Amino acid sequence: MTGTNALLEAIEGNVSRTPGAPAFAEGETGLVTSYQELWDVARRLAAGLAARVPGRGPVLVLGHKEALTVEAFLGCLMSGHAYVPVDVELPPERVRSIAGQIPGAVLLATCPVREELAGVLSGCTLLDARALLEGGEPVPDRDAWVSGEETQYVIFTSGSTGRPKGIEVTATNVGAFLRWLVTFPVVRDGGGVFLDQAHYSFDLSEYELVGALATGGCLHAVSPALQRDFRALFDDLATSGVEVWVSTPSFADLCLADPSFDERLLPRLRLFLFCGETLHHGTAQRLRERFPHATIANTYGPTESTVAVTYTEIDPDDLDDPAPLPVGRPRPGTELSICDHETGAELPVGSVGEIVIRGDTVARGYYQNPEKTEAAFFETALSDGTPCRGYRTGDLGSLDATGMLRCAGRLDSLVKVNGFRVELGEVEGALAELAGVREAAVVPVTRGSRVTGLGAFVVLDAAAVPSELAGAAPFEVARALKAALARTLPAYMVPRQVRVVDELPLTANEKVDRKALAARLARPVRAGRGERA
Ligand code: AMP
Repeated sequence: MTGTNALLEAIEGNVSRTPGAPAFAEGETGLVTSYQELWDVARRLAAGLAARVPGRGPVLVLGHKEALTVEAFLGCLMSGHAYVPVDVELPPERVRSIAGQIPGAVLLATCPVREELAGVLSGCTLLDARALLEGGEPVPDRDAWVSGEETQYVIFTSGSTGRPKGIEVTATNVGAFLRWLVTFPVVRDGGGVFLDQAHYSFDLSEYELVGALATGGCLHAVSPALQRDFRALFDDLATSGVEVWVSTPSFADLCLADPSFDERLLPRLRLFLFCGETLHHGTAQRLRERFPHATIANTYGPTESTVAVTYTEIDPDDLDDPAPLPVGRPRPGTELSICDHETGAELPVGSVGEIVIRGDTVARGYYQNPEKTEAAFFETALSDGTPCRGYRTGDLGSLDATGMLRCAGRLDSLVKVNGFRVELGEVEGALAELAGVREAAVVPVTRGSRVTGLGAFVVLDAAAVPSELAGAAPFEVARALKAALARTLPAYMVPRQVRVVDELPLTANEKVDRKALAARLARPVRAGRGERA
């Protein structure tokens, strides 16, 4: 099999140019792995895999923020296997559900497999990465590398049915993403230190993985243990030398809650790269104040189109404008359109509709799921006639005359309240605009399967709470927020319940966990009355 693998080629180039440069630094242990070491271990793993795993099917890689996990990804690619990142923190049931979708599943473990997990993986071949290193088999040559339209990785995200869906991203997709990412400010200077925080089962982590390793930079890995202990995390950050920060806005909000999260803690930080959920004004504003020398970049994209397809830098004008912050203009090789979800017709500039992506980073589809693939992906062409795939995102947004995209929630976050159509994101945006509100999440209140109203969870910014509410009881603050909302929104959009909380719960991917919030408000249907739950 010939073709190219842009990531492996770029790393190989760095190995020959700067073999001793750090490629991976473990925050918790202080262990540093050089490019040469990374490459050598990846080759030995590739040799072990080639000798034991026939064919070119995907291999699950179980691990966390260790060099060996990244080496296992590269070893898979070198031996012709896509990698399926499985974070060690995922619940065993979820890992079982992922492994169960891969015929003859092989799991390469880069850390000990807990008994609980081993118990649910009985149908799966388990390989221990450390044992594989001892094998001494011949290293596969370059012709074996995953290349071109072959799948580079399969990332499983939550499916609407509750069963995770695997998204197959090809080597060509990653190559196209890489060529764009290496043009970003700071990244393009090469040799930068990237925060490696998002777990590897979340495609946000490909930002730092590809960005650092393609440009001779270093991944500064923040282990789950460090992320649970903020004091230890901040001590680690202080010596990390991080220059490029990649995270969801929610993770930045968690850090911002500590007043010491500023330029003195991270004096080399020059670029914040956000993706994955809405970046709110408050977050961007506080980052601007605390890191006056850093660029704050907002980017947008689903896993189905290789991490991200748009980019923009948030400037003071954006912060002064109450409209939702822009998420950027499309990368070269991507075209965006806004379409009517029902008819598929393209809508004029300024209209809100479904965001449709065309281009060379659109994934091959859902792993072993032709029906779901067919429903969301399609064959198409760019406006210059270049054939490509397209993907209907299920996201709502609008494009302005300059091609700037703004997100406006998800199609499936449209709810009907007493027959009125409400976009939850719009209510959240209105809440986030109110003085003293740092973060807000709005969820439908359900009774059985019926939406009976809206509920809001609000985190306050103590320093910005209006003086008349300083020290007020939570219910008084809630009442004041509802009254303020009622001045800008129709009554049916004003949440009946507003709860002031210390923080919003996050999913494993560090996005606001709306399902958990909705569950807090859901009321069961009493037997004999109303519909079945
Ligand atoms: P994932 O596939 O887990 O990366 O999630 C992708 C989804 O996150 C997108 O389809 C959007 O709904 C949302 N998303 C990604 N980037 C942004 C952004 N910058 N602003 C708002 N929502 C975003």
